[in-house]
Amino acid sequence: MTATSTTTSTASYAADAAPRHDWTLDEINALFALPFNDLLFQAQQVHRAHFDANAVQVSTLLSIKTGACPEDCKYCPQSGHYNTQLEKEKLLEIEKVVAQAQAAKEAGASRFCMGAAWRSPRDKDLVVVEEMVRQVKALGLETCMTLGMVDGEQATRLAAAGLDYYNHNLDTSPDYYGEIITTRTYSDRLETLATVRDAGMKVCSGGILGMGEGAQDRSALLQQLAKLSPHPESVPINMLVKVPGTPLENVDDLDPLEFIRAIAVARIMMPQSHVRLSAGREQMSESTQALAFLAGANSIFYGDKLLTTGNPQAERDRALFAKLGLHPERRDTCEDDTQHTERLAQQAQRNAQAERAAALAVDASV
Ligand code: SF4
Repeated sequence: MTATSTTTSTASYAADAAPRHDWTLDEINALFALPFNDLLFQAQQVHRAHFDANAVQVSTLLSIKTGACPEDCKYCPQSGHYNTQLEKEKLLEIEKVVAQAQAAKEAGASRFCMGAAWRSPRDKDLVVVEEMVRQVKALGLETCMTLGMVDGEQATRLAAAGLDYYNHNLDTSPDYYGEIITTRTYSDRLETLATVRDAGMKVCSGGILGMGEGAQDRSALLQQLAKLSPHPESVPINMLVKVPGTPLENVDDLDPLEFIRAIAVARIMMPQSHVRLSAGREQMSESTQALAFLAGANSIFYGDKLLTTGNPQAERDRALFAKLGLHPERRDTCEDDTQHTERLAQQAQRNAQAERAAALAVDASV
């Protein structure tokens, strides 16, 4: 008997198609509804058309200021609104951050992400984080920060200091967002993402699944992320880590296979983005992680801390990589200083062109 391969759904897209920003909810729902094997097969094809299928970008995340955050994100142990027994820490000294970055580099990380539990950075803090960026970058690592909302001037300063990526997650769908955060709006988040992009930095933005949202919310979250133009270079897909003391500590678990489906759909919708298997990985079995890589995840946090929730130790990750035949993405794919400066200049040019076009449109309409 000869084996035949059939695809049972019309939700099929060319693996090397150009990135799209106009995905409809019907299209996204149809991808989620594909038979699991068909969905993963399609995601693999897209993945292989754009990436080395066995390379995984490795980042390390350090919390540079922990806890007492004024925001009320219901999943977050760092929010000052909840009692989670978290040990609070002021902004770390620059030398400590640089020493951690050096250790991360030696453990194989190519990107060093620094997170601070702020609504937005104050000016006196910004001076310190700019210096952190300069010194971490001087080690030859890519840099990423997540500091809350930033305005245009702050984003420009961070970009000029050499910051490669800014992380700011959308978290969930616009409809479900109000159930999770009330202290800032969805449009605040979109505005920060636009500001970061305009400053010439790369965007890292994703969400958290398993917060009690419905399937439609997962589709709508991915739709919002894919609407960003260009797509975020990095798309973290997190599984909720239920922290005692947070309002979501007793929320129902999300089926891991639903999570894998979301990774695969993200891969198909944002074919050139690094899709990151992020928080929640420690709770996942090796098999679930392997399925996530098969579905197109190609970035992880590595090391022993992911902000304030645990992350599998580097040794366990190395063992898993060896079992799966995966290797860390090569560090020489990172931008050097000249490329970084060129990219900022190109973005400034695009901004100026967009402003001129907007001014012409206003002139034409009066
Ligand atoms: S997720 Fe970020 S902004 Fe929200 S409470 Fe936690 S640290 Fe603050």
